[in-house]
Amino acid sequence: MAVFIDSSGRLQHDQGRGLALKCPHCQVLAHITPVSVPDFNETQLHKPNHVGIVYRCEACNAPIFLKFPVKLYAGSRIELAPNFTELERPREQFSFTHLPEDVEALFKEALACFSSGCYNAFASMCRRTALAVFAELGEGGKLRLYDELGEVRKMAEVDDATFATVRKVLFDAEPEGRSSPPLLGAFEAGVLLEIVKDLLYEAYVRRGRLQQAMTVRRFFSEAPDGKVTPLEKARS
Ligand SMILES: [Zn+2]
Repeated sequence: MAVFIDSSGRLQHDQGRGLALKCPHCQVLAHITPVSVPDFNETQLHKPNHVGIVYRCEACNAPIFLKFPVKLYAGSRIELAPNFTELERPREQFSFTHLPEDVEALFKEALACFSSGCYNAFASMCRRTALAVFAELGEGGKLRLYDELGEVRKMAEVDDATFATVRKVLFDAEPEGRSSPPLLGAFEAGVLLEIVKDLLYEAYVRRGRLQQAMTVRRFFSEAPDGKVTPLEKARS
């Protein structure tokens, strides 16, 4: 795959038309088109090792920044290596509505680490998230989540080695927060992410949604004839 900037400053890309990635802004797998390419003469003059190109997401029009290594400076072209780096990666999504404030703050940072590909920083933040959850739910809640972890293992058919890593990150923190968590790669981090999301859902989101739904049901059942009083009558 040849990618190069020609002497008139246009980006020539063999497979440019088929270039698609998950947009960090709209989260859609979308085609992208170059809108801002470095000036040819200026780049030839300074010969940087990398160049940045701004693309437009065809789904939401947001700018997407990619960094390409330069392979070669030739007379009439600047050849780029096709393996670009995304400067902004798509963020992992999670609904934080029913989470306690400190758990939310810690897990948000965990997700930011994951999105940046910092998997061991992510594991450390997952451990801090888990410690905050255990402190908030008490020993009973911690045991319940430990059982839930076993359930997830069976349902998702997580292999023994990965499960041991996840369990160690989340539950083996004695003395709390001091023992070092195991090293994680992309796969283990992905599994850990899905498991922590599930545990948080189980601990807070599910309960919060049920309580909210029950409050709405109670409100309607207490209204006369199951109907809601119009606002004007309610005021008078
Ligand atoms: Zn987009």
